[in-house]
Order: sequence, then structure tokens, then C-alpha cells
Amino acid sequence: MVSSLLLDPLPASWPCQPARPGGLSGLIAQAREIITTFRGEDFVQRLNRAAMQRVVCEVFQLALDEQETERRKPVEFAQAWKGRLAAMLASETIQLSGRRQPVSVADLDVDLGWSLYAAVDQERAAAIANATATPSSRREWQGSPAAFYEFWVVGGQERLGRVRYATCEGCQAGLIRKISFSLEWQYCGLGTRALDEVQVRHPGLAWYTTDQYGSALGFWERYRQSGDSPWTDRGCPCPHW
Ligand SMILES: [Zn+2]
Repeated sequence: MVSSLLLDPLPASWPCQPARPGGLSGLIAQAREIITTFRGEDFVQRLNRAAMQRVVCEVFQLALDEQETERRKPVEFAQAWKGRLAAMLASETIQLSGRRQPVSVADLDVDLGWSLYAAVDQERAAAIANATATPSSRREWQGSPAAFYEFWVVGGQERLGRVRYATCEGCQAGLIRKISFSLEWQYCGLGTRALDEVQVRHPGLAWYTTDQYGSALGFWERYRQSGDSPWTDRGCPCPHW
């Protein structure tokens, strides 16, 4: 998962370590590991690996903050993040948030940083490509022909976003109440796929939206213009919501 790669402590074996050889050379390698751990070098190495992970994570967050204005699609986002990371690692020191002393880049395991970048990028791409929608959970109001629904868009084990909507079969109308994706999963085409899914699950309805703001407004406009479905936010013919 993307968040665990960036935030959870990385095992010493990540991304992978060469298998220890067997026989006498294996015993010697094991003895060397014990001596290294005893000298405390392993501890320092672990600290430096954690610092490298923090750098990758903070740069990811910086690139994410830019999404408010840049609205990059996944490939452009990955390039922007990569460019920022390369620039950061080209400097002599890096000031991590919450630390008094800057980190020396010479102490960092730069290969680990790039492995982490590649792994997160791959996880993100896989989550987006393989995103699916959970079944809609349904809630009815007594005496009303309207029903309220909710489903999640998931990528692997990760919840990427949530869709809440209502339908009224009597009035042949549907209402999208809210589509929410965290910034990390916006501009990835997932909102459009979620709306397509809603229409597939409830064909033949005219769909309406509630008032939308900011970037969501642009999203709805693009969606309306790109499709031939009867989406509209003008008026609402159903008195049951
Ligand atoms: Zn109705």
C-alpha cells in the first residue's frame, strides 16, 4: 500500500537483500552481521534509512500540495514528484520538518530512496488501474420510494474514495449527493469511473447533482460535456429526497 510504504518503518530487508551464501562463507557473513550490529553500525544505518524514507515521503507531500492548483494526472504527478526528489538529493543537506539538524545527503541511502519512489509509483499506478467499486449499500426511508446508497472505490486493500447517492424509481431520477476522494486520488479519472458505475447500476434514470464548489464544479462540467447522459443540476423533479 502507498501509505504504508511511505509511513511505516521499512523492514531491514526492504526492498530485498541478497540471500546469505551457505557453507563456510555463509557463517563468515553471519559473523560479520553480528559484529556490525554489536558496533552499532546497524542502528545508524537504520536511522539513515528512516531519514531517506522521510525525505521521499515529505517530497511526495510537497508534490501533493501542488495538486490543489496544478491538478496533474498520474503520469505528470509522478514526473513532478521525481523532479523534486532529484533536486532535493542533489543538494548537500536536507532539512526535514520537525528536526533541528539538517540531514546530510552523503549519509542517505539514495538507492533506497529511488527504490521507494519506484515502488510507490508502481503501487499508485496499480491501484488506479485496478480500482473497483464495492457493492452499493442501500438504506430506505419508510413510506418513501426513494433509497439512499453508498459505495467505496477501492484499489487493492486501500479505500480511494466514497460515493453517496440517492435514487427514486418512482420519479425515475437519481441524485449524486457526494463523491469524495482524498487529494492523493484526485485527477486520476476515478471520479468519472465512479459516475459511470452509478449509471450502470441504475440505468434509465435522469441524474442530478447538489451544488458543487471549486474543483468539483469543473469536474462536473467536464463530465457533463464528455457524455451524452442526461445529467443536469437544474431543478430537481423528485420531492422524495
Ligand atoms: Zn421521487
